[in-house]
Amino acid sequence: MKATLTRRRLLKLLTAAGLGAPFATRVVADEADASIQSAPSPENIVVPVSPRDRYPAVLSRGRVIQPRRPLAVMHETDVLVVGGGPAGFAAAVAAARAGSKTALIERYGYLGGLWTGGLVLLVYPTHATEKGVRTKVVRGVGDELLERIARYPDAATNHAAGKPDPTTDPEITKLVMDQMVREADVTMIFHCWVADVVMDGNAVRGVVIESKAGRQAILSKVVVDASGDGDVFAAGGAEHEQRLHAVGLVHRLGNADRADLDALRAAGFKNLGEIEPQPSVRWINLRGPSTDGLDIAELSRLEIEHRRSIWQRMERIRQSSGGDKVFLLQTAPQIGVRITRLLAATRQLTEAEARSGVRPADTIAVGGTYGPGADNPGFAIPYGALVPKKLDNLIAAGRCIGVDTPMVEDMRLIATCLLTGHAAGVAAALAVEEGCRPRDVDILRLRQILLHQGAFLG
Ligand SMILES: Cc1cc2nc3c(=O)[nH]c(=O)nc-3n(C[C@H](O)[C@H](O)[C@H](O)COP(=O)(O)OP(=O)(O)OC[C@H]3O[C@@H](n4cnc5c(N)ncnc54)[C@H](O)[C@@H]3O)c2cc1C
Repeated sequence: MKATLTRRRLLKLLTAAGLGAPFATRVVADEADASIQSAPSPENIVVPVSPRDRYPAVLSRGRVIQPRRPLAVMHETDVLVVGGGPAGFAAAVAAARAGSKTALIERYGYLGGLWTGGLVLLVYPTHATEKGVRTKVVRGVGDELLERIARYPDAATNHAAGKPDPTTDPEITKLVMDQMVREADVTMIFHCWVADVVMDGNAVRGVVIESKAGRQAILSKVVVDASGDGDVFAAGGAEHEQRLHAVGLVHRLGNADRADLDALRAAGFKNLGEIEPQPSVRWINLRGPSTDGLDIAELSRLEIEHRRSIWQRMERIRQSSGGDKVFLLQTAPQIGVRITRLLAATRQLTEAEARSGVRPADTIAVGGTYGPGADNPGFAIPYGALVPKKLDNLIAAGRCIGVDTPMVEDMRLIATCLLTGHAAGVAAALAVEEGCRPRDVDILRLRQILLHQGAFLG
């Protein structure tokens, strides 16, 4: 007869032999697990489930009808930041440091948005460069983040000789963002998707979220929309426009230091990526077709098409002289949507104003110099570019703020998103403190607090 040794029986035998406990410990725990704070408990615990009220959508005469239903409020806060990309991260840290009870919600399980999840690893422009004189414009929260990342070994490198803009390691970037959010006492809520807003007249009073726990609400005094796509201001009915832009899929080459890049370039592989802090890895930017980044059918098609073509190219690289050791390390978990919705703001930032070099009285940040050979003092970003024309209690930050077409490329870069996020967070906290609408905050005080938090206003 064939004897079967089950895991339970094996453990029993080992325990009887005095070997059970250490064996089991070695199986379930490694050093990383051991440092995680959680109540010691057996695995596979049964959680009692009480029947809840259910309000499923119903099919009624060929139409899907969602019934009215009450929503549980899972959290209440002063400032709620939606989206944990560079803008949302900076907004949350700045609002909390300015004294507001702050929560940050993010649909994925990490911070950084396209920077870390989209593997867009080069942070620029951190400086304005005019007539050879370089001025650092990313200061305050964004600068602190970059400096703290750079303290880790092999975490950041300058992307080109003589250029100050860093390329950062995505995992260390996520780690330091977690640390700063935690230190600022921000309530971090991952794994939930903002599906709608809670309105009170013309004012946003919170958001409706979807998660594994179902549909719930979060209430707040002010909301910062740092979703990148303007999901919150669109749901609130704010005037905006929608753009089509290139949607690519960034990916990474492994064993890049074991490849003969010159030979590969000579063989026709022009784009072999950008350097990373680890010499064995390079990230490859992919432009992709100009399309609607809000259309999930289109995004689904592109995910599949990009992965297929990246893989085919990788096979050709591996078959070429100098490329046999190279491998496809990773495609980005987040597809590269550059621009979708742009806010119609109370004060749209135009190229003419931006390039004039003037620093108006409502300047809340100065964007750096962008573009090959560009020489200018950077551009002032007015507070009004973050504020919707009519919708109240909402401030936009990041790549969805109100700018005209030529300014889109400057405004959407990571460094600039850190800046508009920082300003939005302080403005939100100030609106809460002053008990006023974000459009009515005292600009002088806003600038004072920003300066106090280390920002550069020109
Ligand atoms: C392919 C590509 C290459 C680029 N190259 C560079 C470069 O080299 N250097 C550079 O500086 N910039 C580059 N950029 C631009 C830059 O990465 C982004 O514009 C920047 O990250 C935008 O920051 P953000 O915080 O506004 O938005 P995002 O980075 O998009 O972050 C938004 C966050 O909100 C979350 N979110 C969205 N909707 C919801 C919702 N409804 N509910 C909950 N959470 C939500 C997202 O998951 C995400 O984490 C590139 C962009 C792309 C796509």
